[in-house]
Amino acid sequence: MDRNLFLKSLAALPLLSLDMNLQDLSHLSDSFAATPKMPVLFLGHGSPMNAIEENEFVAGFRNVAKNIPLPQAILCISAHWFTRGTKVTAMEMPPTIHDFGGFPPALYQVQYPAKGSPALAAETKTLLQPTHVDLDEKWGLDHGAWSVIKHLYPNANVPVIQMSIDYTQPARYHYELAKKLSALRQKGILIIGSGNIIHNLRMADFPNMHKDNYGYDWAIEARAAINGHLQDGNYAPLIDFDKQGKAYQLAIPTPDHYLPLIYTLALQDKTDSLSLFNDKLLAGSLSMTSVRIGE
Ligand code: ZN
Repeated sequence: MDRNLFLKSLAALPLLSLDMNLQDLSHLSDSFAATPKMPVLFLGHGSPMNAIEENEFVAGFRNVAKNIPLPQAILCISAHWFTRGTKVTAMEMPPTIHDFGGFPPALYQVQYPAKGSPALAAETKTLLQPTHVDLDEKWGLDHGAWSVIKHLYPNANVPVIQMSIDYTQPARYHYELAKKLSALRQKGILIIGSGNIIHNLRMADFPNMHKDNYGYDWAIEARAAINGHLQDGNYAPLIDFDKQGKAYQLAIPTPDHYLPLIYTLALQDKTDSLSLFNDKLLAGSLSMTSVRIGE
């Protein structure tokens, strides 16, 4: 076909199909409009009961959301989705998962009907290449996500996807992987890590759950050391948390609730501030310390 004929045939294409092609392309490469850089949060989620209780910690969650522009969507890395390999939820309507036992019926009745975002799932998968990411249709929102996000956005008006944590990989791997998500901050995506920095459930003194800022000596020591590193931007010992001695070992006996913090820290750039909130110990062996990165 010569050039003129080619141009004429282009012009004859129905406008509608041309529009559709452009739309399809935009879905593939750039689903979310550019925005000023969003902050990144680590939220200490604590007991699932925080979903339905009123206390200073849920007030802290509400307060942080007030000072963040309404996100286009949320990407949550929850301590409660630990998988072999990395997955992102890709369904239109993620179910509310009640992934706990022995709590009052009212907690099982909570539904958090935020939509999913297949577009954000696809974009996350693309950003994380060459790491393989499964688009998941089976999970949903576990309580690590909904028990805190419901306080930030009680109307469930922001789509939420979750990204799983590959339990076969060390903290350094997660730190490097998370950096690949940084472009999402300029697309109105609020990235939330949800866990607990200090989380030793086996040693928890639950009868003293409501004693204010109550921590065992090792928990007080670990919290002071970790907060110091956070405030100094000294992340090497936080990434190598398993080589920091006894207090860290007791504070972080398993990595599940700690690694969401590593995802959050990896997203800090040179211009981002870091602040702590809900910074209290609980039941001796837990902390609610939460982190905001960026204005
Ligand atoms: Zn948890």
